[in-house]
Amino acid sequence: MKFTYCPECKDLRPRSWHNWGTCSLCGAKSRIIAIPLSIYGYLSYALSAIGAVFVALEVTETDVGLGQYRLYIMFGSLISAMVFFYIELNRTTELAKQRVGKVH
Ligand SMILES: [Zn+2]
Repeated sequence: MKFTYCPECKDLRPRSWHNWGTCSLCGAKSRIIAIPLSIYGYLSYALSAIGAVFVALEVTETDVGLGQYRLYIMFGSLISAMVFFYIELNRTTELAKQRVGKVH
């Protein structure tokens, strides 16, 4: 998980794909802070990959022989992926704050 931290306005936020190191608020050069993913982060990616596969199967009307279960797996994995992502985001945000000395 990567964050950007602006030393000018003390803005700390998860880095978005289009952010290449400038602050979105004041345009100053911001620092990139990389926090290693935990098991929650990996679970989140794995579950969203599983969810994406089932969504793709659904869209292409591929029958994998799971009946109604395919829907439970699809929604179950996507919802758990979001939950794990949320946990991971909180955890890494906390670590990023510690990294920049922004703990209150
Ligand atoms: Zn700034």
